[in-house]
Order: sequence, then structure tokens, then C-alpha cells
Amino acid sequence: MTLWYEYVGNIHIHTTASDGTGTFSDVARAAQAAGLDFIIVTDHNKLCLSEEGWRGPLLVLIGEEIHNPDRNLEGSHLLCLGVREDLSSLANDPQALIDAVGANGGVSFLAHPFDRASDFLSDTYPWLDWGVNGFTGIELWNYMAEFRSYAVNRWVGLLIVNWPQYFTRGPWPETLAKWDELTRDRPVVALGGSDVHATPHHFGPWTWKVHPYELCFRAVNTHILTPEPFSGDLDHDRALVLEALRRGHCWVGYDLPALTTGFRFWARQGERIALMGDRLPPGEHVHFEIWLPRPAHVRLIRDGKVIARTYGDRMHLVTSRPGVYRVEAYRRAWGRRRAWIFSNPIYVREG
Ligand SMILES: [Zn+2]
Ligand SMILES: [Zn+2]
Repeated sequence: MTLWYEYVGNIHIHTTASDGTGTFSDVARAAQAAGLDFIIVTDHNKLCLSEEGWRGPLLVLIGEEIHNPDRNLEGSHLLCLGVREDLSSLANDPQALIDAVGANGGVSFLAHPFDRASDFLSDTYPWLDWGVNGFTGIELWNYMAEFRSYAVNRWVGLLIVNWPQYFTRGPWPETLAKWDELTRDRPVVALGGSDVHATPHHFGPWTWKVHPYELCFRAVNTHILTPEPFSGDLDHDRALVLEALRRGHCWVGYDLPALTTGFRFWARQGERIALMGDRLPPGEHVHFEIWLPRPAHVRLIRDGKVIARTYGDRMHLVTSRPGVYRVEAYRRAWGRRRAWIFSNPIYVREG
């Protein structure tokens, strides 16, 4: 297998430029403390490109999360990554916006496409315009949005603020099902987002920062694989990150219970090698290989159905059936089984 370089990034971050509470310096400091290689900041309808660049060992990239604030029913937030100009004036036309992101050299992801409410926190922001096409992918797991539905009252909210690890379970089943439906027709890339705001939470005389930056940067991350290493040149390194996201050479890793660094999912067919995100033609045998950095409950999924499962750190499967193959891994942590890794698919079908 060719040598690929792995970098860990946190995507979907808000700063004081929109409704987050940390400055760019605060955010960069927290990301460095968490040991991340890159972050992509996405303030609401704002593209702060002057903040882009290397800060010590951390690559800071700037995107934006665009939505139409005048819409009655709020939703359809689009993560626009790698764009070189502010496209928020297109917020009222999701298809025009998606097309403009592509024309601008960027990649687009539907943010928190399914969003669950609770009686206590009833606002939701799901994707509302499923007729669109041409987007790069979806935010499969939004770390912050998951908590909303568990916060059934103030007291539970207080527990979530202080012990979030006991509540985090994984992406919503409806998001996974929709992703499997979408990938039947074309490649759709999944990424993990934190949606960190670090908003203060008041309870009587006390104030807490809800899920501070550093905690979120250790939780739901997107790990990318690149064919060459970062060089320190901003344009070169930004292009590597965007290409990995565009092609689905990445996975969603919940790094809080155990780092997912070192996970690999690839396929071999004769002389051909496919990474997650890649396609192989149907017809010949395909050897799927799964490597995990530590043992976990691992499933190989074809077209949305589990076709093999084991507990361990290796899995190998040979098949000649066409389909969309992806991997899920789960680990026990804080008293129950929790989602850990979601690979992007390998597509075995005609191009
Ligand atoms: Zn949003
Ligand atoms: Zn957001």
C-alpha cells in the first residue's frame, strides 16, 4: 500500500466573529493543546480569510457556515470549506450556493442534516432542501447537536454540561440511513463536525462554559489521508486538506474514548488499490482490509446492511459483489457501547 499521511482535524467551529465565545487565538491555542493538525473555522455567514495560516504546528483554515436568517423555518445550514470569497449573499438559494462553492474551488457539506429537539431545547436546524444536488457530502455526526435531544430539562442539561462523555452515543440512525440512500446514486462524503461555540451556561449564581473548545477538539474529529505531507506552504497544504475531503479520503473518529489515529480501510483488486472514498470496477474479486488502532466491535456494511462483524483490530473480507462498502466501529466507554469510527465508503460499481 502506498504510503499515506494521516492528519487529524476538527471542522465546524464558531468564534467571536459570529456566535462563538473564543477569539481566533483562543481557538488556535485550544486546538494546539488538543494536539490537532488542522482546524476549519466556519463562522455563520462570515468568511474571515485573514485569519487563515499556520499557527505554530497547527494549520488554521477558514470556511463559513451559510444559512438564510430570513427564512421562517430555520435550517439548511451549509458548510462551505475552501472558498475564496464570501458566498453568503446566495443563502436564499441553496442550489445556487452549492454550485458557487464548487465553482469557487471549495467543498460543501450539509450541516446537521437531521436534528432532534427536546422539550427543553426545542429549536432544530435540519437540512430542508433535499432536492439539491452537487454537494460534496454531509456532516454525519455533529458533536454539539447530539446533546440537544438529551437535554430534557435544566437538570439533565447541567449533567450534560459537566459530563458530556456519558451522553455521547453517535450519529443519528436517520442520518446514517440517508447517507446510505444518497451514496446509491453517487459518492457522498461524510465528515464529523464539532459545532463548538463554548457558550456560557447560567444556573443560579453559577456560570459554566458549555463544552469548551479544547474538549470539543478531543471529541468528534475528521481524520484525513493525504498522498504527500504538509509542507508549511498554506496554499499547498490547504489543497491537500480539500482534496482529501472532496475525495472522501477521510473518516469520522470519536477520539475522546480512544484515539482513532491509525485506522485504515482499503481494498485491493489485482494491481489496483482503493482507499476509502475511491471506486473499483465490478467483476473481479475485491479484498477488503480493515485495521483498527485497538480492538473494537467492527462492522463491514454493504449498501446499508451489515455483511460481516467481529471484535478485534483486524478484518479481511473477499467478495466480488458490487456495492457501497463502509466500516463502522464501536467501543465500550463510560458504561455503554459508543460509536467510535465511521469510514467513508469504497464504491465497487461502474463509474
Ligand atoms: Zn448550523
Ligand atoms: Zn454551526
